Amino acid sequence: MTTPQDVVRRQLSEDATRAAKLAGVIGWPIGHSLSPRLHGYWLREYAIDGAYVPLAIEPENFAAVVEVLPELGFAGWNVTVPHKEAALAAVSQADDHAAKIGAVNTVVVTGGGVTVGSNTDGFGFMENLRDQAANWDPTSRPAVVVGAGGAAKSVAWALADAGVPELRIVNRTRSRADALATAIGGPAVAVPWGGRADALAGAGLVVNATSLGMVGQPPLDLPLDGLPTNAVVNDLVYAPDTTELLGQAQARGNHTVGGLGMLLHQARRGFAAWFGVEPAVTPALRAHVAAGLGG
Ligand code: NAP
Repeated sequence: MTTPQDVVRRQLSEDATRAAKLAGVIGWPIGHSLSPRLHGYWLREYAIDGAYVPLAIEPENFAAVVEVLPELGFAGWNVTVPHKEAALAAVSQADDHAAKIGAVNTVVVTGGGVTVGSNTDGFGFMENLRDQAANWDPTSRPAVVVGAGGAAKSVAWALADAGVPELRIVNRTRSRADALATAIGGPAVAVPWGGRADALAGAGLVVNATSLGMVGQPPLDLPLDGLPTNAVVNDLVYAPDTTELLGQAQARGNHTVGGLGMLLHQARRGFAAWFGVEPAVTPALRAHVAAGLGG
C-alpha cells in the first residue's frame, strides 16, 4: 500500500533530503509553477542549506499528504491551484486575511507540528505597487478591481485594508462581484460587467484580476477612454509581461505595473519564516524568474 509518506518521498531528490531546511509548493499539476525557480534563487543567493521542492499532489491525496509533511521535516510549504481552499481547512490555524479570503497559499510549521496558514497574495500585491508605483496613494481616489476570483478577493481585501475611499468590483458573473462587495462592505460596490468602462471615471487605480490577457486567453476588453491618464493600471497577469491592456494604457500615458512583482513579493513571507532570512526582490531575481516563463 502506498502511504502519503511514500507519495512525498518519491518526489524528493537526494539533495533535498540532505538539506537542513525543507519547504516546497503543492499543486496539481505543478510543472508550471515558478516558485521553485524563485525560492531556489534566494537559497543560492543567501547560501542557505535548504531545499524548495515542487510536489505534484492529486486533490484526493492533499489532506493526507499535508498531515505528514511536518514529520518528513518540512518547515512549511506553498499551496497553489487547485488546493488553496482545501489548505484552509487543513491547517491548525489561519490568519485573518486567509480566513476572509477563504484560501491559504503559505503554511508555516511551528512547534509540535502545528500548521499556521496565511494568504500572502494581498501583501505581495500591495508591496509590488509600493515598489513599482511609489506615487500612487490608495486613500486618494477610487480603485477598480476587474474580476472576483481568488486573486481578485486578495486584491480587493488588501485595497479595502489600505483605505481606498471607494472600491468598484466588476465581474462577468455578477453574483460573485455582489458576494465579494457584500463580504467587504464599507467602500466596496459591485458593478455590472456592462458598466465596466464607466466604472473607470475618476479612478486612481485599475487592476485586471481576471485570467483574460494571459497567453492563450483573449485580451480583457476594457475601453480606457474614461480613465484619468494619471491613474495606475495594474495587470496581475505576468505572461506576457506586457498584456494588451498594459500596452493600451501605456499608449495613452497611464503608469503601468505588471503582475510578476506580486508573485515575487508574495513569496517573501514564506521564505523568511522557513529559512530565517528576509529576502529581497531585485532586478536580478526578476530577470531570473522571468526567464523561466520561456519568453
Ligand atoms: P479564478 O479564481 O479562476 O478567477 C478568474 C476570474 O477571471 C473570474 O473573475 C472570472 O469571471 C474571470 N474570467 C475568466 N474568463 C473570463 C471571460 N472570458 N470574460 C470575463 N471574465 C472572465 O483565477 P485567479 O486565481 O483569481 O487568477 C486570475 C488571474 O490572476 C490569472 O491570470 C492568474 O495568473 C493571475 N494571478 C496572478 C498572481 C500574481 O502573483 N501576479 C497571483 C494570483 C493570480 P467569472 O467569475 O465570471 O468566471
